Amino acid sequence: MSLSAIDQQHIWHPYTQHQTCGPLPVLVKGKGIYLWDENEKKYIDGISSWWCNPFGHANEDLASAMFQQASTLEHVLFGGFTHKPAIELVEKLLPLLPSNQKKIFFSDNGSTAVEVALKAALQFFHNQGIKKNKIIAFEDAFHGDTFGAMASSGIGLFTEAFKESLLQVIRIPVPVKGQEDKAFSALKVALEDEGVAAFIFEPLCQGAAGMIMYEAPILDQFIDVCQKAGVLTIADEVMTGFWKTGRCFASDYLTHKPDIICLSKALTGGTLPMAITTFTQAIFDGFLSSDPGIALLHGHTFTANPTACAVAKKALELLENPEMQQGIDFIHQKHLVFKEKWKHDLRVENIRVLGVILAFDMVRPDKEAYYGNFRNQLYAFFIENGLLLRPIGNTIYILPPFIINDEELNKVYSLLEEAIDKFS
Ligand SMILES: *Cc1c(COP(=O)(O)O)cnc(C)c1O
Repeated sequence: MSLSAIDQQHIWHPYTQHQTCGPLPVLVKGKGIYLWDENEKKYIDGISSWWCNPFGHANEDLASAMFQQASTLEHVLFGGFTHKPAIELVEKLLPLLPSNQKKIFFSDNGSTAVEVALKAALQFFHNQGIKKNKIIAFEDAFHGDTFGAMASSGIGLFTEAFKESLLQVIRIPVPVKGQEDKAFSALKVALEDEGVAAFIFEPLCQGAAGMIMYEAPILDQFIDVCQKAGVLTIADEVMTGFWKTGRCFASDYLTHKPDIICLSKALTGGTLPMAITTFTQAIFDGFLSSDPGIALLHGHTFTANPTACAVAKKALELLENPEMQQGIDFIHQKHLVFKEKWKHDLRVENIRVLGVILAFDMVRPDKEAYYGNFRNQLYAFFIENGLLLRPIGNTIYILPPFIINDEELNKVYSLLEEAIDKFS
């Protein structure tokens, strides 16, 4: 039986309706910005494998960091022990974070990073005997697929089946251009509820919602009023972290720094699953007691896996390379030129750029469904032409690896332009 046939018989893929999904390409190799399938068809990874991979595939520095660590101490439990890769990673990461961030908690993926943030926020108040059990979150947010993360997520398609079983969330509009006042008023109303423990948000760009962008000054105001009201602020930087917005973290654009930050995706340079939730000293101190029940009793079997820590440290080093920084700036400048060229075209709207992210919406007579037909046609068009993108509804975006060169990026843009011609 072919690999693809075995896959179809036995494997259940993420976010996939298997009744309508045909056989999937079997990938056999990746190098740099490219992926190859078993028929030697080559694809440009235009979305850095779901926003994880700044350095391209099969990076040798990362591979060797993993090999060295795996042949020294591949994994050990993190309860009752510590180890050098975790400590060295923390030493490397802390100076990059907003200076109010002092404590690092490890987990496995973006959803668990959010779960840890939410649990810590709720327990922080519980530990003081204060009853606060609600969260404020943005409409159309995406924070992951576990229960707490899902509750804070606003994309209905993903959460509809579970909505009776979720944490209480007060949802407010996203302060996109023109909607700032409405969103800010909604936040102020929400903050009147004494049961609110935390406000969670994707800073400056809501990835899964279709790269919906809003400005730093308004988010600054949101954080400020939350902090004044004694509500903890959680920046979910799982997508925005590690230079995708043009700065190391989206929080770097803010004056008021969040109390908690969630990181994952590019943390290990797109190699191994790992996540981090970072906290202020004050939050950490809220868990200190002679009573063991006051501690944060949360953990995962592979917490702070040494191999993942070692490769994450190497990834942070690579990000500091001047070529990488030049790559980020180069992509950003090219995106701005693309935006200039297309911003008056009537077939596209809302063309937007943040760091290495470029997104625009195709003008359509009606609203297109998140995983609808139109989106599927776009997806198929790009795949057929050797470009991996995942359009959302009528939104097309790219988030290329930082190592993409001029010619390769031009190739991506020309496929975007072909798509605009073909699907308008
Ligand atoms: C992808 C994503 C998550 C969930 O991460 P997983 O690793 O898929 O669990 C959470 N928050 C944001 C902002 C994300 O983009």
